[in-house]
Amino acid sequence: ISIILSQTKATVSDGIKVFTVATDDTHGLERFLRSARIYGIDVEVLGKGRKWTGGDMNYAGGGQKINILKEKVLELMKSNDNKDQIILFTDSYDVMFLAPIEDIVNKFKSFKDTRVLFSAEQFCWPDSKLAGQYPKTEVANPYLNSGGFIGYLAELSEILNYKPVKDLDDDQLYYTKIYLDKELRQSLKISLDHESKIFQNLNGALSDVQLRSNTTEDWPYIENVVTKERPLIVHANGPSKLTLNHLGNYLAKSWSMKEGCALCTEKKIELKENELPSVMVAVFIEQPTPFLEEFLQQLNNIDYPKSKIHLILRNNVEYHETEVDEFFQANFKNYATAKRIKPSDFISEGEARTIAKDRCVNSVCDYLFSIDSVSRVKPKTLRYLLSSGYDVIAPMLVRPGQAWSNFWGAINSAGFYARSSDYMDIVYYAVKGIWNVPFITNCYLMKMSVFRNTEAKSISYSVEDTDADMAFCSNLRQLGIFMHVSNELDFGHLVNPENYDISRTHPDVYSMFDNKIEWEARYLHDDYNINFEEGRKHLMPCPDVYWFPLMSPRFCKEWIEVMEAYGQWSDGSNNDKRLEGGYEAVPTRDIHMTQVGLDRHWLHILKEYVRPLQEMVFTGYYHNPPVSIMNFVVRYRPDEQPSLRPHHDSSTYTINLALNTPNVDYEGGGCRFIRYNCSVQNTKLGWLLMHPGRLTHYHEGLRVTKGTRYIMISFVDP
Ligand code: UDP
Repeated sequence: ISIILSQTKATVSDGIKVFTVATDDTHGLERFLRSARIYGIDVEVLGKGRKWTGGDMNYAGGGQKINILKEKVLELMKSNDNKDQIILFTDSYDVMFLAPIEDIVNKFKSFKDTRVLFSAEQFCWPDSKLAGQYPKTEVANPYLNSGGFIGYLAELSEILNYKPVKDLDDDQLYYTKIYLDKELRQSLKISLDHESKIFQNLNGALSDVQLRSNTTEDWPYIENVVTKERPLIVHANGPSKLTLNHLGNYLAKSWSMKEGCALCTEKKIELKENELPSVMVAVFIEQPTPFLEEFLQQLNNIDYPKSKIHLILRNNVEYHETEVDEFFQANFKNYATAKRIKPSDFISEGEARTIAKDRCVNSVCDYLFSIDSVSRVKPKTLRYLLSSGYDVIAPMLVRPGQAWSNFWGAINSAGFYARSSDYMDIVYYAVKGIWNVPFITNCYLMKMSVFRNTEAKSISYSVEDTDADMAFCSNLRQLGIFMHVSNELDFGHLVNPENYDISRTHPDVYSMFDNKIEWEARYLHDDYNINFEEGRKHLMPCPDVYWFPLMSPRFCKEWIEVMEAYGQWSDGSNNDKRLEGGYEAVPTRDIHMTQVGLDRHWLHILKEYVRPLQEMVFTGYYHNPPVSIMNFVVRYRPDEQPSLRPHHDSSTYTINLALNTPNVDYEGGGCRFIRYNCSVQNTKLGWLLMHPGRLTHYHEGLRVTKGTRYIMISFVDP
């Protein structure tokens, strides 16, 4: 940062005037002026506040730039007798300076026999028929581009006054015709910067231009690998705009390996507690979402005064409606205002998002914080985004262990995802910063003043046959509104809803592979990690019977409810069709995990959470993964099967997880190890008993006298 500040103070070399035209205060202009500031270049912005009458710049047009510059040059001609005054003109919305003005002028002066130098590009635009009239076409960039030129006042004045031009006429065509007039070209000494010694136009040149960002010494720069030049000004002409958004993340001392992210601090705002901006928090539940309960809790935990939050809670999933409604009823009074959009409102996603945005635009709210139910963000995220100073900014959120995130680094010509060269580096935090990107989704903050001008006011999320966020981001790109994603800090992650099956009872319990973080937080016992503390003395209620906290009370409750909802308990007879041999010597009333689709899940629990416990206490025995064919929940109750006769298990070791609580849910029960005449009756909810299966640990299930006892059993390594 100190480097940047000292650079901005540097003075411009005398006698050079730098002009641009910018009718509006766009993000592109801001980037342009920042780059000028970084290199100490004093730019005069012409046309500010004027109505743009130069046409839609996706087509020919831009004559207005000539007319605005012409006025200025006329003024200079009147007041200035130094006809050797050098003037640099560039576009602004899609241009960045990459060097100080001295370097630019020195380069210009090194062009032989040149009084005016135009930038050059690979396309003869807007009239390709003129290509044949160019004197030199066997060069890297044969054709004139009007987005940047440098020259002496006298010659420039002649060029600008050569003939009248309408605002709607094309500026590039105007200059091209002058250049193609041999007499004028020679008398005014006009040249083109074919080799990009100063000006690099990006359209058509993407494979010629390499970003050198991986340098420990220097700030990143671009190199034209064809001409071996290091351009001093870059212009994203025509459809190459998004490339400059990408390059701009690094260029003009924005980011470096050594200095890190200069862009992260330059715009920082200090939030004053007594003047906090008002924020609309717009919540979207568009699809069945794993661990929604935790998501709703997270809303309550946002570190921001609720009196400053206007809540919009949109749910479009009937399955979640009861839970969402309960949350809303319990919490809405805490917010400044609160509104709901329910599934029964039959409002499409695009409409709902547009309603939230418009409600924010048309009210007192300063910011809109849009958050989808798949987003899991840390409480301070909102404050970070607000203080970043960026108008549209998302906290980077990634599905853990995947490359799936809430932003795209690039976009293809059809408007779909494309991977940028730095996408993986950003996702894996190999580079950290605030990045200008073409698409953000799921969670982002937007400053509402950006959306209050006439053009942006009509931006909508509803475009037929287009995903709502894609439509919205496409609108932002069209208007040159920059979107950013920050991975400066770890803000949270995304849950993965892809395999979430709401036809299941308690689908979250099934979601352990896709959403490990949430699953462990909700379902592992709070004390599970204590098992592994150094010097921990494990409980051993009977000889070689170990006792560990494993699963949470919530797990046990949901696990039982999954079984009871399924309901097809075995009949307790010796004939058991579920078994390969069809015969069970010591039958219980039970449900196998295969019956409820939880066998893969339970085996994973064995491997991930039980096996490490076993390895700790029965040392020297390593079987990874543990094998277990019989995994089942047993139900003991007085009027069904209350107990189990003494038996050996067909296992190397057996685990027995208490799914409910003695003297609360049932009376009696427990497990007696006959050889040791030792019983465990005060079993603890979510705690696991682990004991050898054969020979030594002959055992029986003690009689349940009241209520129902549930245990989860596995015969490991039979
Ligand atoms: N411009 C402007 N107001 C507008 C549109 C354009 O001042 O509403 C100026 C601005 O300097 C911009 C330049 O005209 O950089 C050319 O427009 P654009 O960058 O869109 O066109 P391109 O470089 O692709 O021809």
